This record gives sequence, structure tokens and C-alpha cells, in this order.
Amino acid sequence: MSTDNIKTVGVLGAGTMGNGIAHVFARAGYRVILRDVEKRFLDRGLETIGKNLDREVKRGKISEADKPAVLGRIEPRTDVGALATADFAVEAVPEQLELKLRVLKDVDAVLKPGVILASNTSSISITQLGAQTSRPDRFIGMHFMNPVPMMVLVEVIRGLATSDQTFQTTMALCEKLEKKPVAVNDAPGFVSNRVLMPLINEAAFCVMEGVATPEAVDAVMKTGMNHPMGPLELADFIGLDVCIDILEVLSKGFGDPKYRACPLLKKYVAAGWLGRKSGRGFYKYS
Ligand code: NAD
Repeated sequence: MSTDNIKTVGVLGAGTMGNGIAHVFARAGYRVILRDVEKRFLDRGLETIGKNLDREVKRGKISEADKPAVLGRIEPRTDVGALATADFAVEAVPEQLELKLRVLKDVDAVLKPGVILASNTSSISITQLGAQTSRPDRFIGMHFMNPVPMMVLVEVIRGLATSDQTFQTTMALCEKLEKKPVAVNDAPGFVSNRVLMPLINEAAFCVMEGVATPEAVDAVMKTGMNHPMGPLELADFIGLDVCIDILEVLSKGFGDPKYRACPLLKKYVAAGWLGRKSGRGFYKYS
């Protein structure tokens, strides 16, 4: 299917990523069917979209009148059958293999035959997920970055069976969303997390070994390497538990000890210090 034929987009999951993905598609003029399992998750997702749109109005990115128009293009639904009218679909449910396989199987059964199904997974193999659907050639990774409305990168991941047409349509669709798509092939952690997680892990080792404080590690990377956020600030933002999960995917996927999670990260997670979301990680948050 070419981008010209895509008018309605199905989004599975209205959480952190799903509501952001719905936001950017609706902002670009697409009709969005946003599916979650319970109304309260849809309400929460729509509330977040509303707040983020308010911010965009304040910054002058969109006009006052755009807000109700964007929200009006998003249809919240709890039934997967609603995706039968979608011309493209993106899955953004939690990063658990069994859950993703179940959700993808259900949506695969209702989507029209030519429709491309994309996954926003940050670490699960696109080849493996696609193989469990009836459309491995129309299956692709579309790895948006958090927060989706603001971050420009989309890592577009080709599974082994992803067709050229699926790849080209997905790349063109990202451009329509005013995103910068970067093509990569399927491998553990893709490029983003394969490069980022060892950096975060090494920063944690520096703290554990007493080489430097978190503030000093982050200051070196920000002022010396021009990183907008230090690796430990970023780890707190992502969630230290999520960092460990991704390091485990890398470790298992490559069988290489260089990806073993730093014991200090594990200790923090065991203490419930997960980063920003729990109020404490390498830093304290009020
Ligand atoms: P989240 O927990 O914030 O949201 C997931 C949503 O999916 C929840 O609202 C949940 O109710 C819903 N859900 C559960 N089962 C469902 C089903 N059967 N059908 C529809 N919805 C269902 O998770 P998230 O952070 O948005 O992550 C989603 C995906 O995006 C994961 O694969 C994650 O790895 C990936 N990702 C996350 C980030 C990030 O920074 N959070 C960045 C890039 C990619």
C-alpha cells in the first residue's frame, strides 16, 4: 500500500508511546483509531495528548483551532475489531514477548490484507514478531523515541522478510509525520539501544568504582562531548529497570559478556530506585 492510500491509522496501546504516536499521526491529518484494553487507559492517553497539544499551542507549533481538530481525529476504542478500517497499524503495547505476540495475532486477523503492521518495540526481534503474523513481508519496526511529539528520529527496522514496498511506504510515512526515519536491519537493540546502553552501563560502572560522581560523569559527557543530557540523567529518564531489560536482551542476543548489566544498576533497581518515575535513581526527584 502506498502512503497516498493511507487515511486511517490504528494504534495499539495508549500508554507513553502509543498516545504520542496517535498524537503525531492525528496532527499530520490522519484519522486515528486508538485501542487500549480499558476505557481508563484511553482517557489517560487522551488527557496526555490534550496537555501536549496545549504545549504545542503555547510554543506556536500549532494554532488554537488545531487542538480540537487533532483530538477530533482520534477515535478511542477498546475493541480490536475497530482496526478493520485501518490502512496502517502501529503496535505500542508493553515490552513483553508473549503479550506482543498475542496482540499482533489478534490485530493481524482483523486488518485488511494489504495493510502494513508496524511494531514500536525497543528490543524484540522484528523478524521473530513478523514471523508470527500472516504478513511477515508487511511487518516492520517503527521505533519512535520518547517523547514522540518532540523527538524527530524514527528508527525503521527491516525484518528478514520485510518487503521493499513495506520499507519504502514506512519511510515515506515517517516523512509525512515530519520525522527523520533512519533505516537499520534487525539485530538485538537495533542501533539506538546497542550504542546507548553500553554508554549508560559504562557510566554506571564509573560511579560504582568511585571514578566519579554521577554529576561529574554527566558533566564530562555534556560539556566535553556536547551530549544534551548526561548518560545517567538519561538512564533515570528511561528507567533503570528498562535499561537492565535492554542490556539483558543485548547480552542474550550476542552472548557477549561486554553487555552484562552493571551491579550498581541492579542494586538500584532492587532498592526500587528506578529513576524519575520512582522519584530516585542516580538523582533525586521531587
Ligand atoms: P506503557 O506501559 O506506557 O503503555 C502500554 C499501553 O498498552 C498501556 O496503556 C496498556 O494498557 C496497553 N495495552 C496492554 N495490553 C494491550 C492490548 N492487548 N491492546 C492494546 N493495548 C494494550 O508502555 P510504553 O512505554 O508506551 O511502551 C510501549 C512500547 O514502546 C514497548 O514495546 C516499549 O519497549 C516501546 N518503547 C518505549 C519507549 C519509552 O521510552 N517508554 C521508547 C521507545 C519504545
